[in-house]
Amino acid sequence: MGRKPIPLAYRIDENGCHICTSHKPHVRDRYTQVNRGGKVQYMHRYLWEQINGKIPDGMYVLHKCNNRACINPEHLYLGTHAQNMRDVAKSGVRQVIPDKVIELIIELRSVMPTRKIARIYDVSQSTVSKLHNGTYNRLCQDT
Ligand SMILES: [Zn+2]
Repeated sequence: MGRKPIPLAYRIDENGCHICTSHKPHVRDRYTQVNRGGKVQYMHRYLWEQINGKIPDGMYVLHKCNNRACINPEHLYLGTHAQNMRDVAKSGVRQVIPDKVIELIIELRSVMPTRKIARIYDVSQSTVSKLHNGTYNRLCQDT
């Protein structure tokens, strides 16, 4: 066997989501990844399999909470690709901005420069402006 696996650590946020702190999310898709036995796989899939057994072919492990960083087994469920696409469409293609954050961004916009808010919440400046003037469409890809 190769290197020792990194022990799993996570924090629990206000939604009960388990946010992994020991493993980094993938830069592009924000899913946490894990290397087990030389094989890199998605953490939420790995954990789901540890508890429920092998994921059937063609099935996806989906998030009830729409938080890709979440690895709470209770927030995961098995679904089809179509269900996954529906969830993605519901939550916004590029990233999920929780309602609470949207409210905060809108509130902060009157006291803080767009650039600063964008940095704090890790969203683009155009997203901040769109949220502020009410033209942000959660169903469309943010540009
Ligand atoms: Zn969750």
